[in-house]
Amino acid sequence: MWRREWVTASAGQTQALARRIGRALRAGDVLLLSGGLGAGKTTFTQGLGEGLGVRPGIISPTFVLVRIHPNLATGSRPGGPDLVHVDAYRLGSAAELADLDLDSSLDDAVTVIEWGEGMAEELSESRLVITLDRAVGTAAPLTTADGTDDADDEELRTITAVAVGPHWVGRDLELLP
Ligand code: ADP
Ligand code: MG
Repeated sequence: MWRREWVTASAGQTQALARRIGRALRAGDVLLLSGGLGAGKTTFTQGLGEGLGVRPGIISPTFVLVRIHPNLATGSRPGGPDLVHVDAYRLGSAAELADLDLDSSLDDAVTVIEWGEGMAEELSESRLVITLDRAVGTAAPLTTADGTDDADDEELRTITAVAVGPHWVGRDLELLP
């Protein structure tokens, strides 16, 4: 299965990347967003929503657990799939995730689950696992002339996409031109 990796240097760059991916998403796609608090999972989802053509204003569904963003006829992709955005941070088990009844919209919407590792695997045999990480493996640390760390370092993220399952076979070219 395929794998891709990018490094972004701002929230805007992460959203631009996600917007490009979002334009190519289809009903039935399940994305798992992995990464610590503040890594950029919700920021990434905002870009996905733009690419899908749902109304702007995506915020973290931390307290409501799941929020459905309908794809309106006025958006950039009229007739495109809705976005079902889940934050599993406060869920304790796969059973609690199952209680959200995501199955009912799985085939018709794009489902994005933040913090879903160890739970969402049961939801779908195929998923695109996107990991956001503050650590930048290969890039040298940025330093300024006076030797202090460059503040921009704070904004670097490594973003990795790993496709799992038959649903994603051959989708890399279409998703990531
Ligand atoms: P999460 O949902 O993973 O907890 P959020 O998306 O809510 O994270 O928050 C990420 C924070 O990091 C935001 O304040 C965002 O502006 C900031 N940020 C800085 N650089 C980046 C980057 N390269 N990509 C994504 N977010 C970034
Ligand atoms: Mg979040």
